[in-house]
Amino acid sequence: MSRQQEYVLRTIEDRDVRFIRLWFSDVLGRLKSVAIVPAELEGAFGEGIGFDGSSIEGFSRVFESDMVLRPDPTTFSLLPWRGEKEPTARMLCDVYDPDGNPAAVDPRAVLKRAMDRAADKGFTFYVHPEIEFYLFESGELDGGQPVPVDSAGYFDHVNGGTANDFRRTAVQTLEAMGISVEFSHHEAGPGQNEIDLRYADGLAMADNVMTFRTVVKEVAIQQGVFASFMPKPLADQPGNGMHTHVSLFEGENNAFYDPSAKYGLSLIGRQFVAGLLEHTPEICAVTNQYVNSYKRIWTGHEAPSYICWGHRNRSALVRVPQYKSGKSSSARVEYRGIDSAANPYLSYALILAAGLKGIEEGYELPEEAEDNVWELSDLERRAMGITALPTSLDDALELMENSELVAETLGEDVFDYFLRDKRREWQDYRAQVTPFELSRHFSSL
Ligand code: GLU
Ligand code: MG
Ligand code: MG
Repeated sequence: MSRQQEYVLRTIEDRDVRFIRLWFSDVLGRLKSVAIVPAELEGAFGEGIGFDGSSIEGFSRVFESDMVLRPDPTTFSLLPWRGEKEPTARMLCDVYDPDGNPAAVDPRAVLKRAMDRAADKGFTFYVHPEIEFYLFESGELDGGQPVPVDSAGYFDHVNGGTANDFRRTAVQTLEAMGISVEFSHHEAGPGQNEIDLRYADGLAMADNVMTFRTVVKEVAIQQGVFASFMPKPLADQPGNGMHTHVSLFEGENNAFYDPSAKYGLSLIGRQFVAGLLEHTPEICAVTNQYVNSYKRIWTGHEAPSYICWGHRNRSALVRVPQYKSGKSSSARVEYRGIDSAANPYLSYALILAAGLKGIEEGYELPEEAEDNVWELSDLERRAMGITALPTSLDDALELMENSELVAETLGEDVFDYFLRDKRREWQDYRAQVTPFELSRHFSSL
């Protein structure tokens, strides 16, 4: 038994923990949970806890339905909203197949593999997300529109506002679980908020994002409101982006930092950004995985629609901030092509793989886009070599299907499942006759 496992067992006894929830993610990034009693924990650390995976999204191949969960003791934390007395704890788990190999369909295993590949080249991948979400009066729609909890906007201070209390409790809960928060503020949409997490390595951050979404939803329930990470819940308001700041470290050194280079972005950093730009069309189906995601991308409000990079340019897909001298550790690039409903494990694996490809192949970074690319004409954009993000889930899936990079990074099982599941979503969507069509055409055609 490792020291960390012993520490967990001791804490469970000292704190009189009654239940331990074992958390893992399905292929779409939805949290799954099974509770065990403390007496089972030693066995869970040893041979693991068996479960039937056949009803979990993406785990359903019959011959792989007997799966095993093994908790990662470094992720141990109490769940603050379950109370102090006889508390409940949780750990994130790795999923194994019956032969004891990491399960091919476990998103956590996909990210670990991608990070191991980076480690072979001497790189550690660091991430910090800006996570946007909406607070609504209720989760029930009864055929109507969602109703935001306020009508405030970007950075607004709302006196006595629901959003203030909400952010305070959410941040306190995250911190109590060991997840550090850098900023929180009201976002541009009514009822829309953003919380930015302090950077951590990719795996820890993907675990944190899973926890974050649960914390935000729990705190909302406590406060009698409803939190949604849906990419575009309100047609005429901004969507929920999850802009993600990334960097690579070689040991103690930030590989993206070169004080003598433009904006302080090293050659490795430039190649990484070039990889992101080149491979964005292929990875987009995963970083923006719902029909609804493309409504965020294609309706303005500072969501990126075109593939370019910039410095102060809020229309760019990748933004390169000016690094402050003496703060080389904060040198990073911001990838804006991901929304709040994405699976963080699969998305980080693909963002990393795209960037690494740029480094391995020595991709050239194109010219930076200084203009607002939304305001340029198609002709102007074409002249500048700026192409567009996929316009729909269908479009994105076709690009993904032909991608070696995505197939290799996700592995065959996740790749096939994802394409199958998402094609079904597209077909269900395509079969709808929408209120838009009825109101436009019913009486006039
Ligand atoms: N909500 C915007 C998006 O969907 C981002 C706004 C911002 O720049 O923070 O990406
Ligand atoms: Mg924002
Ligand atoms: Mg941002």
